[in-house]
Amino acid sequence: MSALADICTFCCEVSGGTSSNLFYDLGISPEDSRDYILDETPHFVIFPCIGALVPDYVLIVSKRHTLSAGWFNDEEQADLRQLIDRWTGRLGSAGNSVVLFEHGSYDFRDKGGACYDHAHIHLIAADAQPEAFVKSVAEDVVLHRCDDWLSAAVDSVQRQERSYLAMRTDGHDYIGNSRQARSQFFRRHLAAWLGAEPGGWDWLVYPEIERVQGMIKRHWDMNPVR
Ligand SMILES: [Zn+2]
Ligand SMILES: [Zn+2]
Repeated sequence: MSALADICTFCCEVSGGTSSNLFYDLGISPEDSRDYILDETPHFVIFPCIGALVPDYVLIVSKRHTLSAGWFNDEEQADLRQLIDRWTGRLGSAGNSVVLFEHGSYDFRDKGGACYDHAHIHLIAADAQPEAFVKSVAEDVVLHRCDDWLSAAVDSVQRQERSYLAMRTDGHDYIGNSRQARSQFFRRHLAAWLGAEPGGWDWLVYPEIERVQGMIKRHWDMNPVR
């Protein structure tokens, strides 16, 4: 774990380490505070997405270092389903649409457009129409409706041995083959859909520090006791 935390940003951030922790390095959270971790279960943590394109944009990150949800075991899948339900309820409580997506890596060559080599699921609250977003993504990736994106993801990785793109918008699940996808391609569609500034998809250029800090503050204002 300690060796991975030195080379993997998400491993480091999940454990609250300091060696490659963007929340500390960008001055978002005071060092050692771990206050950016908004929720925690046996197998996952939730923290704000650095580069958040909207005020409510979080990542569900696995505690185990693995490439994607397609590699999750049964326990992790069950834990994840509960966590997604809880946070979909929270993010959608103001009447927003909640969009979930994951660019699921199969291996280090077939990364499916992922930005990190550590499993993470994006959850976003938006007041835009999700149909337009699905249409936009479908220009790059052939999407299929499915009953359950997580089962389809596991099938894609563990049986078909390939990367995937998974989405859920307002209870509709989709799976696509993202083998040819470029890095962060999904965020480009997301930025266009949400009307972000040109180049806003690139979190390296636009980390949106104030937005991320706003999410952390709102969360702890509403949930004062750990
Ligand atoms: Zn990791
Ligand atoms: Zn990502």
